[in-house]
Amino acid sequence: MPKGIYNVPRAINEPVKSYAPGSPEREQVLKTYKELYNSTVDIPLFIGDEEIKTGDTKRLFPPFDHQHNLGQYHQADKPLVEKAISSALKAREKWATMPWEHRAAIFLKAAELLAGPYRAKINAATMIAQGKTVHQAEIDSACEFIDFLRFNVQFMTEIYAQQPVSSEGIWNRLEHRPLEGFVYAVTPFNFTAIAGNLPSCVALMGNVVVWKPSATQVYSANVIMEVFQKAGLPKGVINMVNGDSAMITDTLLESPDFAGIHFTGSTGVFNSMWAKIGQNISKYKTYPRIVGETGGKDFVWAHPSSNPIEVATALSRGAFEYQGQKCSAASRAYIPASIWGPVKERVVADIKSFKMGSPEDTSNFVSAVITEASFDKLAKAIDDAKASSEAEVIVGGGYDKLKGWFIEPTIIVTTNPKYDTMSTELFGPVLTIYVYEDAKWEESLKLVDETSIYALTGAIFSQDRYAIDFAAKALVNAAGNFYINDKPTGAVVGQQPFGGARASGTNDKAGSILNLLRWVSPRTIKETFIPATDYRYPFLGE
Ligand code: NAD
Repeated sequence: MPKGIYNVPRAINEPVKSYAPGSPEREQVLKTYKELYNSTVDIPLFIGDEEIKTGDTKRLFPPFDHQHNLGQYHQADKPLVEKAISSALKAREKWATMPWEHRAAIFLKAAELLAGPYRAKINAATMIAQGKTVHQAEIDSACEFIDFLRFNVQFMTEIYAQQPVSSEGIWNRLEHRPLEGFVYAVTPFNFTAIAGNLPSCVALMGNVVVWKPSATQVYSANVIMEVFQKAGLPKGVINMVNGDSAMITDTLLESPDFAGIHFTGSTGVFNSMWAKIGQNISKYKTYPRIVGETGGKDFVWAHPSSNPIEVATALSRGAFEYQGQKCSAASRAYIPASIWGPVKERVVADIKSFKMGSPEDTSNFVSAVITEASFDKLAKAIDDAKASSEAEVIVGGGYDKLKGWFIEPTIIVTTNPKYDTMSTELFGPVLTIYVYEDAKWEESLKLVDETSIYALTGAIFSQDRYAIDFAAKALVNAAGNFYINDKPTGAVVGQQPFGGARASGTNDKAGSILNLLRWVSPRTIKETFIPATDYRYPFLGE
């Protein structure tokens, strides 16, 4: 029983370490990288209190060296997915009633472990598994993940503190119950922080979870499970299953105890899940919560008053860091003709200076894309652009999959603002630019708004306040994260809650109180101190 109304440590963003030559963090992460790279793992399924090895395995390898062996992970069959459901529901019996401060303590401890003893390991694993540079790993798997854990604890207490008013003789209370059933967390490859946050923020609110990481992130997901266990998370609260995505999803979504989905990934996959939930709706004991952050076709728009060097830098960083594989990465840009010359000169020079290769060589700015399928899709888009009369590849355009899935950072300039790569999400280091006539800057905003189905992130550049105001209004529904004179990537937990609308998701804003509210079901309690003893109201009197 809690014997106090506790305050939690005030959340502050984890400082980003520099990894500059000679720094202790650099030495440590590279040492850990070598150790991990030269050993193999055998990753089980985490179901209830068991770590299960089925023998049905898949090989693990880094995207920048696909012949290198990192070990294997085991895959679940349908009975094991069903076992994950029953294990979660069994864990729920104790977890859902555990006082909140103990749940908070577990995840605050996980944050401390990541900030200290596990920092090098989670970063090195992310560099290896997902092909991130040390800086990209640090801002994701260390800092963002730590921020999610710490801020969510604070948001949880803010939710619990929200209480209704009471009137004379009665006490009204709101109890924020966990959902009745289990939650299915499905995570993408591109952020270790998202992989950790989607199951953990749900569990923090008292729920139990079956978590399916992406097949290309299992390696670092295994480190996440290690951290959660070390932090004292009871077995069965988060069950990690891998294997055939469609079979796992079908099995979980058929369960009457399915209470919600916390998804991040592509729009098509989320749509298919929503459709299945719709088909099964009468099977469920409770209406499930459906939360999904999905695809994007994020834009940079420049006004004629903008500074060309600032615009070019936003493109170099915003479109190409982590090989353009951030959901927020700029992949289409609209530049006025009057500044295109200097923008082009700078961005082309920047891209030519990027080094590409293994993240172990910290002078590399970019590495390989995640899979062969992604490589093939990007290579085809580049070839199509080379062959098109409406497009020109002005820098990059090369690709090579001999050792890893390497796509050169590429810029396509198109004369057709509706050209395919202005609207289709490619999810790689390919940016398409449309140069517009300065006088048509207002019309160009209509193009930005109407060219893609997505509305995730977008950036405008201008030094003219009237133009900023005009563009912000014209693009009011074009992005859930809107940037003025900044690149459209790099949202920070607690500062820029993240998510988009239209085909980019349900916009439940990861890393904010809004998201956590989806994982509780409030019960209103009215307690009357002196109950009525006569049904007659005064108006009935003679
Ligand atoms: P993905 O859709 O391929 O995979 C996401 C998850 O869904 C993975 O766990 C995958 O195994 C699973 N999955 C894939 N096919 C499935 C199927 N048929 N049935 C059930 N599950 C299935 O996405 P990805 O390639 O891992 O990630 C990139 C995508 O995620 C991009 O579209 C990107 O924009 C999006 N994304 C969005 C955000 C955001 O906050 N909006 C953040 C990160 C990534």
